[in-house]
Amino acid sequence: MSSRTASCHCGQLRIEVEGEPRFVGICHCLACQQRTGSVFAALASFSVPYRVFGKATEFVRAGDQGAKFRFRFCPVCGTKLFHTEEGELEGVGVAVGAFADPNFPAPQYSIYDCRRHPWVQLPPGTKAFGKDPT
Ligand SMILES: [Zn+2]
Ligand SMILES: [Zn+2]
Repeated sequence: MSSRTASCHCGQLRIEVEGEPRFVGICHCLACQQRTGSVFAALASFSVPYRVFGKATEFVRAGDQGAKFRFRFCPVCGTKLFHTEEGELEGVGVAVGAFADPNFPAPQYSIYDCRRHPWVQLPPGTKAFGKDPT
């Protein structure tokens, strides 16, 4: 199986995942906008197992539906590299940009589309949800 490695900006924190993503989504919620400093977050979900190299600091955020998301970021450069959902042991969400791979698969889902900046255009065929579908 092929593997991919996503890295923080300074290279201290890395995550290696295997196979193709379970899904790729972009999220326009205001928490993701502030979390990333960008106008939307691009996330790819991968199945376990995965391997983490380096030190991560954690930040837990409760979603609108009560789910707890545990974000891991690099304590040196601050890149938010990956997150897990509490009670969900099957997968990990990795920031797509951290793969630094322009050929990474495009998103299938657009989440919190109600918060999308109007100038952001979705790729054709993207399924849009007003809020979080889960
Ligand atoms: Zn770093
Ligand atoms: Zn979000």
